[in-house]
Amino acid sequence: MDWDALSAACPQCNRCELSDTRHNVVFGVGPRDAEILFVGEGPGEQEDLKGEPFVGPAGQLLDEMLSIIGLGRHNCYIANIVKCRPPHNRDPLETEQEACMPWLRIQAKLLRPRIIVCLGRIAAMKLIKEDFKITREHGQWFEKGGIWFTALYHPSALLRDPGKRPETFRDLKTLQAKVLEVCPDPAKYDVIS
Ligand code: SF4
Repeated sequence: MDWDALSAACPQCNRCELSDTRHNVVFGVGPRDAEILFVGEGPGEQEDLKGEPFVGPAGQLLDEMLSIIGLGRHNCYIANIVKCRPPHNRDPLETEQEACMPWLRIQAKLLRPRIIVCLGRIAAMKLIKEDFKITREHGQWFEKGGIWFTALYHPSALLRDPGKRPETFRDLKTLQAKVLEVCPDPAKYDVIS
């Protein structure tokens, strides 16, 4: 399946019950050749209404965080584990995550990213390891199949607890260093060494 077929098929999906209450399938944004993929857990209210990931206050904070290290929607791809909003912003159920993962797997196959950054616990548990502990293991690196994985606190968690921001700043610096290390053309990311 290519990008055009994928982006046409995904909005028709009703593989799980989240299709009953969504306004929009939040497919993902960014260049289709991005080497860095950010993955959150699922759309919130604003994302559901606009059909774009991370557009509410948490999204604004994410944009600000990424701009510190020369990253953003212009050079990274941003998606979620589930593409439809869980009601009342609850965590996506395991069954919903499993139903939706094939879409993300195809996106990742087409992108072939060098780095995948999980935003929050749910994405890290799904993509890095089941027992991932975000408080202990954020900012650490895991290599799987030639792709480098890490996790940051979800921007919503940083809005709730600004005391976590210094740790996240350090994690962003390790991400910046990893971009310099593994992306063939770091100049593409405005990374200042
Ligand atoms: S969350 Fe994913 S699997 Fe469920 S209906 Fe939406 S696109 Fe389909």
